[in-house]
Order: sequence, then structure tokens, then C-alpha cells
Amino acid sequence: LEEVKAVDVDVYNAIQDEMDRQNSHIELIASENWVSPAVMAAMGSIMTNKYAEGYPGKRYYGGCGCVDVVEELAIERAKKLYGAEYVNVQPHSGAQANMAVQFSLLKPGDTVMGMNLDHGGHLTHGSPVNFSGVYFNIVPYGVNDEGFLDYEEVMKTAMECRPKMIIAGASAYARTIDFKKFREIADACGAYLMVDMAHIAGLVAAGLHPNPMPYADVVTTTTHKTLRGPRGGMILASKESMEKNNFNFNKAVFPGIQGGPLMHVIAAKAVCFKEALDDSFKVYQQNILDNAQALAKGLMDRGIKIVSGGTDNHLMLVDLTTFDLTGKAVEKLLDEAHITANKNTIPNDPKSPFVTSGLRLGTPAVTSRGLNTEDMDTVAEAIALVIKEGEAGVEKAQALVKSLTDKYPLK
Ligand code: PLP
Repeated sequence: LEEVKAVDVDVYNAIQDEMDRQNSHIELIASENWVSPAVMAAMGSIMTNKYAEGYPGKRYYGGCGCVDVVEELAIERAKKLYGAEYVNVQPHSGAQANMAVQFSLLKPGDTVMGMNLDHGGHLTHGSPVNFSGVYFNIVPYGVNDEGFLDYEEVMKTAMECRPKMIIAGASAYARTIDFKKFREIADACGAYLMVDMAHIAGLVAAGLHPNPMPYADVVTTTTHKTLRGPRGGMILASKESMEKNNFNFNKAVFPGIQGGPLMHVIAAKAVCFKEALDDSFKVYQQNILDNAQALAKGLMDRGIKIVSGGTDNHLMLVDLTTFDLTGKAVEKLLDEAHITANKNTIPNDPKSPFVTSGLRLGTPAVTSRGLNTEDMDTVAEAIALVIKEGEAGVEKAQALVKSLTDKYPLK
């Protein structure tokens, strides 16, 4: 970073401060991760200099031979990783991938079913403040009182409203998603099934969550969550689905909603997919799951309620109502204790999304850092101190955090 320092000391200082923050804090935001040095280096490479509108072999600019190589590599590796025959690695983000698919398959005013944001869905699945909620007629579905997806209710609603598309996938759902059931529902009402596997993409790649590919008409994802790649998005589909439905997602991404692809990010996606194809990635994903189990157990053993009573994946939702606390207050106290997490609504939350009655915790980043199940019990103890003792518990929690951050310095 010496080059940055020489030119712009303000940005240099901010990067150093952020490095110190990441080093001294335990990162429990479920959608974040700590990328490998190889992914980081590809992202920071000269590939950023290149304009490459179009697709490999069919570009609108000269000099695209080398960027074609990385885009082809990214596509071929992603196909192998998920068993897809069609892949587009150009979406700048998960939201862009979802926008391309929705604009490609829907017309303004069409009915779409997506998971309620308050129950764990994503903004791009139909929130009124997002393009999806503005352009389409959204009929939300959600979880039952125990916090599990209510497939019977989804079927009932689908048969009533006859959506053009059903979106399966979530940002804050801790249980395995039954894609086969979603397929049955989509078939029954004649809808497209789009699966957004952003959160669980790493687990799917490792075979630790069912793969949506055999069931979905189209799958979208981000590459930076459990998958541990650069910040970005991707669209996948089977050959059968592309042909049967006459899909053209390439056109929807470029020129539909984007201009030039971020070739440095696509290079980093290719590196990430190579890492994900390695056997060691399966071990890493299993460790994420084991750590999530250990954290959920550690919290429940200390009398802290977890929505749905546990987790099947990398994240969990803490229900703070029994302690009469808000997610907003606990997020702030945890930050003082050097634990980073985000407030989150819980199903049927009486509080607003800015306040909330819950907290979302996830284990991808701490697992990348090297923490194991024993360490997760220490993390649970630190969180319990903050929840039960408030300000009085912060100092003790911070000491526990320091013991872990000292043990696992970021490289
Ligand atoms: N889809 C899901 C399920 C997500 O959780 C997210 C981000 O949190 C996105 C899409 C959007 O990804 P991005 O922030 O890259 O636009």
C-alpha cells in the first residue's frame, strides 16, 4: 500500500484503520468473508484497465484475448462447480444478477412471489423500496411460528395468485431450503422458479446444502459470501432450461443493465472457483457448518433463544425478545466489545428494520480466520456477557475477543 500512501494519505489511513478494525474484531456478519491472498491479488491486478463489452470471442473492443482467457476460465470452473451448462460471470453484484433475470423474464406489473424481507428474504426479492417491488406485483411468503419455511402456505398462496415467477432463497434463513418442493409449487401454478443461492453458494459448491440446479429454471448468486470470492454476482442455468424457455440472460446483463464487465473481478472469480474446486474447500465449508452449530449451541446453552431452535447452515438468528432488548442496542454493545454483527428482524418482528428484535450471526469469516468449535464457545460466552450484562459485560467480552484475535492474527 506504499503507492497509495505516497499519493493519498487520507485513503491510506482509512485502509490501515479498516485493517486494524478487521484484525481486532471478531467478524460475525453472515454475508461477509475474508478472501484468500490469491483472490485479493487478482482483484487488484491490471485486469481493471481493460474494457471488454460483450462476451468472450464477441467483444466490442480490441485487445481482449487475455481477458477472454480469464472469463472463459471463470465460466468453465463455475459450470463444473455447480453442474451448470450456462453461466454468466459478469453481474457486478448479486442485485445486478437478480435484476438481469427479472427484467429478462418479467414485464412490469407481473406477479412475483418472494420471501418476505422480515422473514429473511432479500431486498431484490420484492421489497417496495427496491426495483423488484416497484416494477412487479409482489406477493410475499414467509416462515411459520417456529421459523421454518411453510411450503403448504407457499403452495396455497401460489395457487391463489398464480405468479409468473417464484423466487426461492434468502439472506437470513438458517434452515435447509427444499428446492424440490419449490419446483413442485412452481409447476403447479405455472411459474418460473428462480433460486437465489447467494448466502449458501459455498455450501452448495461443497455438497453441504442441496444444489438448486436440478430444480430451478435459473439460479443467481453472489460470489463473496460463503463462496469466499470477490464481491460480485453470477447467473447459472441448465442447457435444458435455457433452450426450453428460450432464455437470453447474456443480453439481459449486457447491454441490458450493464456496460463493461469488471475484468479484474472476473479474474478473481476464476481464482475463487479454482479454490472452491479443491478438496480443501469442502473441509473449509464443513468447518463453517461446525462453527455455526457450536455457536448456536453455545448461545442456547447460555439461555439465548435462536429462531427455529438452531441452524442447518452458516448463519443463525438470535431472538432478543426474552431479554427485552433490541437488535440495534445489542449491535452497538457488541461493537464496543469488538464483535461485528448486524441487527436483523425476526419473523413477525414488532419492531422496525432500523431497530429490530433480533441479531444475525454467521461463521464464514471467522472460519476463514481459523477459529474452531472451541473458539466459538468463547465467542458465545462473549456475546452472552453483552446480552445479559449490557455495558457491564462489555469489558469482559472484549478481553475474550482479544484472546481470540491475538491467537488468530489476520495475514
Ligand atoms: N441475494 C441475497 C440472498 C443476498 O443476501 C444478497 C446480499 O446480501 C444479494 C442477493 C445482493 O448481493 P449484492 O449485495 O452483491 O448486490
